[in-house]
Amino acid sequence: MQPGTLFFQCNICGTLCTIELASLAREAKSCPNCNSSPRTRAVIRTLSSCLFRENLILSEFPIRKDIKGLGLTDAENYASQLKQKFDYVNTYFHQEPRLDIASDSIAPEQRQVYDFIISSEVFEHIVPPVQVAFDNVYQMLRRGGLLLLTVPYGLQPETIEHFPELHEFTLVERDGGCELHNLTKSGVRQTFRNLVFHGGRGSTLEMRVFCYSDLLRLLSAAGFVDVAVHSAPDFRHGIWWPQPWSLPITARKLPAGVRP
Ligand SMILES: [Zn+2]
Repeated sequence: MQPGTLFFQCNICGTLCTIELASLAREAKSCPNCNSSPRTRAVIRTLSSCLFRENLILSEFPIRKDIKGLGLTDAENYASQLKQKFDYVNTYFHQEPRLDIASDSIAPEQRQVYDFIISSEVFEHIVPPVQVAFDNVYQMLRRGGLLLLTVPYGLQPETIEHFPELHEFTLVERDGGCELHNLTKSGVRQTFRNLVFHGGRGSTLEMRVFCYSDLLRLLSAAGFVDVAVHSAPDFRHGIWWPQPWSLPITARKLPAGVRP
């Protein structure tokens, strides 16, 4: 083995993997079996430690059909196993079972029912104002329920909203590229170029780059408590990236009987 080679077990599929540490990045598909990345493995590690206070690989999770969970377009490699372990549903913006987390109203049967909600790489794509999504997740969780959130964020002083006045907009193909045409609420026409798209199906236009302090503010404004950033590396499961940001964040809905 070369110096700088990491030998780890994928906590999603259990495969023993090797990778050059220098090529390990947050989104690097680094398990040859299930294509998991340090980020998706971090989601499972964080879920395990929050639900069971143990760092279990997914196949070792106990079957707990009394725990109700929901994913927002979760990666299929772990969503399929979460369905076996929990009363869990993965939802999508563009296909059934559908959920628009930025919707004006959450259906009554979806309110106060989930023990955990996973939102990984979704909130940076939501049409502004993004606070609605945080408020909706809070509504959907049971008291004491867990939000497990990953988004790309930086340590700059403010969130960078690419299209703060988005109102009526369309994406237009032009000259081999893509433009966003927007009509603001006050009737001003805007055109944006150099759009950033993230990989994956569905609605993947980057709407913003969060800053850390703004994420804390958005969570707090929704009512969340016990906000934690899960920064510890887990080399045993290949969970590490060089940058000290865009780490998994967890927050809880206030338990019953506890005042903010
Ligand atoms: Zn794997």
